[in-house]
Amino acid sequence: MSSGVHVRVVTRDCNAVATLSNITCAGTDCGKLGRFSCRNCGAVKYCSIQCQKPAWPQHKKYCQAIQAQARQTAELAAELHACPLGWSAEPEDLFQTSVGHFWGMLHPRDYCRARRKLMSTLREYGHEGNSQLALKLALEHALDLIWLTRGDNQGLRHDVPHLQISLGRLREAYDFCKWWLNLDADYDPDDLELPYLDLRGEDVAEELDNLHIKEWGCTSLLLGVALVKLCVMMQIKQVEAFVLGLHDRVGADSPKLHSLSMAYAPWQTRG
Ligand SMILES: [Zn+2]
Ligand SMILES: [Zn+2]
Repeated sequence: MSSGVHVRVVTRDCNAVATLSNITCAGTDCGKLGRFSCRNCGAVKYCSIQCQKPAWPQHKKYCQAIQAQARQTAELAAELHACPLGWSAEPEDLFQTSVGHFWGMLHPRDYCRARRKLMSTLREYGHEGNSQLALKLALEHALDLIWLTRGDNQGLRHDVPHLQISLGRLREAYDFCKWWLNLDADYDPDDLELPYLDLRGEDVAEELDNLHIKEWGCTSLLLGVALVKLCVMMQIKQVEAFVLGLHDRVGADSPKLHSLSMAYAPWQTRG
């Protein structure tokens, strides 16, 4: 089901801004809500000093790398805000005039490369350092880069679904994979009038035949679809176990057991 042209607005030219609320603490086996973020890199949240302190030796090397790469990306972005395009032309703000065409214009390529590097570091740290915040930031950077460069010349579509799945955003991952897999070979990414990443709320449970896959060669997107379906299947199994009272933790509270005990209660009291 399509819902019109996607209206993502690129408002950030060098910094991704993840939603800072509801971020889980990166402390080992903590699971509490993160209350404060690293003031140097802003890529991790902890609930307390007790969780932050033991994680520091590992965070330290990433913290420095993330800061350096973010600084470099910001410097390159500043150049694109006032980019001289010719002898007579006034400098242009490419973030205002050229969204979608960043790779084809050559000038912004160094910026795209630097921002992609920052995204990769955040993703790596997110997995290694258990930082949900770093994964969210990595995803935002990747989505922004794809929006700035519609042809996705840097191949970020291979990273996005796996970040979305890591963050539990299964529906978004499915919509994203389906859009790319269904793409016609003659689709022109330079034509900004054409729909772009506009699938929303696609049926995760649909048959593979319904996908109309045109790009079978893209294993990372196919893997994304398979992972989403597997995750949904596991979630259904959990709900099933809950309803039937077979779940380890919530079995005793299951509606099925509850209704059974209600049904048998009068009988038992009579006995
Ligand atoms: Zn904690
Ligand atoms: Zn840091």
